[in-house]
Amino acid sequence: MKIGILKETLDGESRVAITPNIAKQLIAAGFELLVEQGAGESSSFLDSDYNKVGVTVEKRAVIFHEAQVLLKINPFDEEDLKLVDEGQVLISKLYHKSNPELIKAIANKGVTAFSMDAIPRISRAQDMDVLSSQNNLAGYKAVILGAFEMTKIFPLMMTSAGTIAPSRVLIYGIGVAGLQAIATAKRLGAIVEATDIRSETKEQAESLGAKFISVDNTGEESEGGYAKEASADYQKRQKEAVNKSLFQADLVITTANIPGRKAPILITEEQVMQMKNGAVIIDLAAAQGGNCEVSEINKTIVKNGVKVIGTSIDPRSVSTNASDLYAKNIYNYIMHLTEGTNFKWDLEEEITDETLIVQNGTIRKD
Ligand code: NAD
Repeated sequence: MKIGILKETLDGESRVAITPNIAKQLIAAGFELLVEQGAGESSSFLDSDYNKVGVTVEKRAVIFHEAQVLLKINPFDEEDLKLVDEGQVLISKLYHKSNPELIKAIANKGVTAFSMDAIPRISRAQDMDVLSSQNNLAGYKAVILGAFEMTKIFPLMMTSAGTIAPSRVLIYGIGVAGLQAIATAKRLGAIVEATDIRSETKEQAESLGAKFISVDNTGEESEGGYAKEASADYQKRQKEAVNKSLFQADLVITTANIPGRKAPILITEEQVMQMKNGAVIIDLAAAQGGNCEVSEINKTIVKNGVKVIGTSIDPRSVSTNASDLYAKNIYNYIMHLTEGTNFKWDLEEEITDETLIVQNGTIRKD
């Protein structure tokens, strides 16, 4: 089976769906690989790197014409669809729920389309989960961004000119991004505290060296391992438990999300006004509405000497690693969908069922 790796065309995208290292593994598994010229350049993978592992480098039109399976990170767009042929299989993110027009256009081409953002969040799909692999990097990068924006360093430092006290970092939300933020801030020498509505995260935070701030979460059970919207009562208890740490913190990273909902507000403007002058808040949930009342996406707002940075931290800023992890997710997914080098679509099986959005021109999920 011929698999074509396309160059991303979305503005600012610097990742590539398959890296040379993963291409080599797919070739070893019996697939034939084609890559569009320059597809890996912005993530530091050269055409010659692909060539060395046995991938054929081709022009875009040739890839569309020859490959049975086409791979991209971002959704296939109108320009791509002009080039696809009936019977081809497309694998990319599709965000099908918010993109009904695109899904119709894909179906009209008589192709099959799988969506990487629809991978169910179950244990056996963990190694295919692109949201997690990219969020993990965002957690790391949030700490680095914080270090850049702060006017202090993280570690305790004893010098002949005196001792520098370590910085205090507070993390809200101990999911994939939050855990990596804890690990990174700890490695850099900060004193790290963290809180989450799910009590099972206590052990995870502590195993990375953070102090867990417990909030009584009676009546706030999670659903299938994911948080539900917190009650007003919980929010009040959370503020009481966290305020002391918040007002002492030098860096606050918020990562709290509720699947399918607006992000919860965990830090009000009133709380920001009581924080230390020079403190930095990195609101990683800004694109989902923000965890801090003050934050706005892609903006830095200074309130009472506190810098509030609303960002979704783009994994594109670490495109080499982001591509590598993404590629490994796709590799695992392709292995899951195939037997030998042929597709075996078991529609009774949850991962296939959830991610197969269009099958031979018929929309299965909307
Ligand atoms: P997420 O991005 O949806 O949310 C981040 C964190 O915010 C979560 O831990 C959540 O509990 C927390 N949160 C929500 N509301 C809050 C509030 N009011 N106050 C404090 N914290 C609040 O989460 P995620 O990173 O997707 O991970 C959620 C869980 O799912 C983790 O345990 C993770 O390991 C697990 N997970 C499993 C899979 C899989 O099995 N395939 C994939 C991804 C994540």
